[in-house]
Amino acid sequence: MHATESPVPAVSQQESPVYVRLSLAAAMTLGFTRGWFFRNARLGCINLLLTYSGGCRANCAFCGLASEKRAGTRPRSFIRVPWKTYHTETVIDAVRSAPAHVHRVCISMVTHPKCREDVINLCGQISKRTTMDISLLVSPSVLHPGDLKRMKAAGAERIGVAIDAATPLLFEQLRGRTVHGPHSWDRYWNCYAESLDVFGKGMAGVHLICGLGETEKEMVMAMYQARSMGGYTHLFSFFPEKHSAMENVSPPALSHYRRIQLARWVIDQDLTHPKAMEFDNRERIRDFGISETSLQKIVWSGEPFRTSGCPGKDGAVACNRPYGNEKPGDNIRNFPFQPEKNDLEKVWQDLFDYSGPDHDCKGGNGK
Ligand code: SF4
Repeated sequence: MHATESPVPAVSQQESPVYVRLSLAAAMTLGFTRGWFFRNARLGCINLLLTYSGGCRANCAFCGLASEKRAGTRPRSFIRVPWKTYHTETVIDAVRSAPAHVHRVCISMVTHPKCREDVINLCGQISKRTTMDISLLVSPSVLHPGDLKRMKAAGAERIGVAIDAATPLLFEQLRGRTVHGPHSWDRYWNCYAESLDVFGKGMAGVHLICGLGETEKEMVMAMYQARSMGGYTHLFSFFPEKHSAMENVSPPALSHYRRIQLARWVIDQDLTHPKAMEFDNRERIRDFGISETSLQKIVWSGEPFRTSGCPGKDGAVACNRPYGNEKPGDNIRNFPFQPEKNDLEKVWQDLFDYSGPDHDCKGGNGK
């Protein structure tokens, strides 16, 4: 993704609901920022982020937004890219005339007391004034009873719950009391369960970040929990956000991430079960619990290695977040398009590479 200049001026230090932040990819797609996507990727979902002076009230160790609080209001990166602030009205107008391949808008909450009313109101505005499907990425720590129902009434179609860390211990250490954060593992999973009740099976998903210190088996168990409850996993590869508490931690090794991507796919397609899988003494996946023929077919389809996220009206993933996990280049982690033969040849090699550590010691393509 290469951006140059901004014909629509971004503003800073302005608050939602009058202002929202846009991912760089969304700003490029709506024509606010000039640029081009590596390998002609096309974004199918406009990702918006609510914004408040003083930033997000949580303190997650891996998140660039937590550092905004420490640094005053200076905007930082989030999911690897900058998010500039724009007038909400200007954004809604632009969404109304977005390119035809854009099918969805996602509004991400942050942890702030004003956020719950603002997300519901903004969702209602976008629902009334555009034809887009709407996802809300909610912050369970600030929701009140009944809020999910109000979100649905306002026009939201799907819910995302960013659980992010795959085990209760990692959650506590990276998002909970250890880092003086307000989040709780149980509250997040309960919110996911309630989202599935309110929005229906298959209409909510969890975000999980691979590479926060969990083993492959632990990630498999978290993804299976999400699936067995009735939804899906939207998978991210950890990227060390500058100025975050984890800025010096390396991304997961590509081989580790490829195995988790494949495991996610076969779990979410109900093709396997953790009991059918085999793990080695470092809890790395050695057998996915499917036949060799099926495994070959699935890998060479390329589907497991594409970005996982909420779909568009055509059923394909709309929220494909181009280069949200790595710099554009040879080692794309979440492919925002169909991978080509030479991409998959490399994927195949990485999948069965057990020679290295779990983290990319060279800093991978992430730094
Ligand atoms: S996967 Fe869904 S909930 Fe998550 S950011 Fe994308 S559109 Fe939003």
